[in-house]
Amino acid sequence: MSEHYVKVKIHVEQMKSFGEDAEKQGVDAEEEEQVAVSSSPPASVSPDPPSITIAGRDVSNTFKHRGKSRIKMGKDDKNICGKHSLDVSLHGGRNVNKLGHERTLHIKGTGKILQGKNNENNGVSMHPSKNIQVARCEDGFKLARKRRPVTVDTSKAKTSLEALRLSIRQLKWKEFPLGRRAPCDIYWHGVSFHDNENIVSGQVNKFPGMIEMLRKINLSRAVRTMQELFPEEYDFYPRSWILPEECQQFSTQIRMVKENDASVNPTFIVKPDGGSQGDGIYLIRDPSDLKLMVGSQAKQAVVQEYIQRPLLIDKLKFDIRLYVLLKSLEPLEIYIAKEGLTRFCTEPYQEPSQKNLSHVFMHLTNYSLNVHSGNFVHSNSQSTGSKRSLSSVLYRLAAKGVDIKKVWSDIIALVIKTTIAVVPELRVYYQAEIPPGKPGPTCFQILGFDILLMKNLKPVLLEVNSNPSMRIEHEQEMAPGVFEYVPSPVDEEVKVGVIRDTLRLMDPGHKRTSISNLRAGGLDHGEEIPMEAEPQDRSPDEGALPSLCLKQVYPKYTKQFNYLRLVERIAALFIRFLGVKGNMRLGPTAFRTFIRTCKLSNSNFSMASVDILYIDITRRWSGTMADSREAGMGLQAFVEAFFYLAGRRFKSQPLREQVASLLELCEAQLETPPPGGEERRSVSCSRALPRSIRTQTLPNPQLSSPGPLRRAASQDYRLHQRLKPRSLRANLEN
Ligand code: ADP
Repeated sequence: MSEHYVKVKIHVEQMKSFGEDAEKQGVDAEEEEQVAVSSSPPASVSPDPPSITIAGRDVSNTFKHRGKSRIKMGKDDKNICGKHSLDVSLHGGRNVNKLGHERTLHIKGTGKILQGKNNENNGVSMHPSKNIQVARCEDGFKLARKRRPVTVDTSKAKTSLEALRLSIRQLKWKEFPLGRRAPCDIYWHGVSFHDNENIVSGQVNKFPGMIEMLRKINLSRAVRTMQELFPEEYDFYPRSWILPEECQQFSTQIRMVKENDASVNPTFIVKPDGGSQGDGIYLIRDPSDLKLMVGSQAKQAVVQEYIQRPLLIDKLKFDIRLYVLLKSLEPLEIYIAKEGLTRFCTEPYQEPSQKNLSHVFMHLTNYSLNVHSGNFVHSNSQSTGSKRSLSSVLYRLAAKGVDIKKVWSDIIALVIKTTIAVVPELRVYYQAEIPPGKPGPTCFQILGFDILLMKNLKPVLLEVNSNPSMRIEHEQEMAPGVFEYVPSPVDEEVKVGVIRDTLRLMDPGHKRTSISNLRAGGLDHGEEIPMEAEPQDRSPDEGALPSLCLKQVYPKYTKQFNYLRLVERIAALFIRFLGVKGNMRLGPTAFRTFIRTCKLSNSNFSMASVDILYIDITRRWSGTMADSREAGMGLQAFVEAFFYLAGRRFKSQPLREQVASLLELCEAQLETPPPGGEERRSVSCSRALPRSIRTQTLPNPQLSSPGPLRRAASQDYRLHQRLKPRSLRANLEN
């Protein structure tokens, strides 16, 4: 147990002995922590929540108020080796101290303490010596003078502009608010990759296709594919059905569940596909209450199991907004912000009943809705009000005896697994937009994960936002009808830290370890990925900045999660056979080439059967896509075909093993064609029949994903359907 935990625990016990109530304990534990942090560097264990607060405090200490932060940065210019050397050593000390302890993570289910690299701690900053600091400062000063400032095009930043501008100032980089004729190092877009056209170099803060991939239907599809392969690992996403096409299955399944057990009375939440900020969301208790049409058009939506027993604080439901940086697709690099936000409902929670289903202030945590409730509390403090820092909530839970280390490691696992689910399709978009060989920018993106904690503390993924709001002010009614934008300290503290540290990580001056041994689609299970030089190894001109609030979780935890990256390897095959640059769909000839090259046809599975398989799957998929602009087989249809082929060839194995075996076979064919090319014969073949029903044992059939249930329930099931990505549509930030 870290020193910090001991402190929190002792404090809580003291409070208990004074007989104070649990609520008060939480608040005071938070205050205690402030004292602890400011007096001595805590021996925190990252990714433990204590380091969350350190990051937050670092930011708040140095950049608490916008005005102040500007003055500070001005002083830093002159004083790089003077007054601020104290700050440098303090931050450095904390940083190294943290690093020295941050290499363990308890991952749920494994019962293991995971060990990471432990060799960054050079001891220099542990015992900061003035001489070393001075030397570092002098070097840094020379370097800072030599290096030209990083240039950032902010002309399309929209509502993130304010936070971005503060970040750029803190970094002493150069902003181009109107864009620039010469290329910039970084382009900051407010909506999508395409906000600025024709960027051929530098880095853009959006990935092509991210908006589409994170829409509710596509995210549900991507997670469902992973649930089919790894049902237990992906049980953090509520059971979901796609409307309108799965309406019938939804009704049938719910009827069956209710018939089996009359005491079961589930609630469902219906969310429009392109919706955000709670728009168009409603709760139902019976499938007949679905509103399927808008005018004469069928509504695209997801209907999802409603989590009836969320964790409450002050009797209120709340959710977590966690910022995640997808730094690179290949190699996959994921960072999680140690500090986040929590958004509270404004009406005390009650389990859903017919009476309260429409009480949005009770059931929906969206800021955009609750801000209109008379009970909404704008707060200057991080630990009270309707929007609070994540660390304050975690401390409060710790004070009540919650194992927040476990909560945090479960959250990290959820983030990594979700990212692994969406990366395959993103890779297809990426190669279509920036084909290998074509000049183009590289991409990174900050994502907003919305997570609910269940009463039993299990984190549940609600959605992922491709454009999380980076506003650092909020509208306030100063007098009746008079609204003004006022700074929101909690937003500023969290969001400026996230943007600034994203920029630091994307600094083109930072050296990256080259990763040459990446196979298409990922690494072998258990294979180590060389780590990027830890970003805590700051460039000398970053000396006065707080330690990074973003923590690398991938490739750091590659060993624990790499085995999940099967679909990504299927995507790599798909991309390989796409052929014409810029394509996202496989034509029939390319599909045949794939089958031939990988030697998947034989006397039992003729090329005629291959054609039928292609036509069958592709036709059904194009039927679900009214707005399809490109004909052919998309990735999700290809994945379906791949699962089918794997099922035929490796019959009696579980799906994930079938798929892994077929992947190995295909990859081997592509890398080292065997001399003579002897075809392996599959055991049986008939016309394009669906793969056999998988015998995945699910702990509770009521909670299983609809795919397996549907297949099990239907005598005459067809290859399950997935939706193809929708056409580009800029969604609102949320
Ligand atoms: P939007 O993009 O419109 O904000 P969300 O998926 O985030 O849509 O849902 C809005 C709110 O509804 C969430 O912030 C959460 O409070 C609540 N919510 C969403 N899904 C569930 C669920 N499955 N169970 C319980 N509450 C949910």
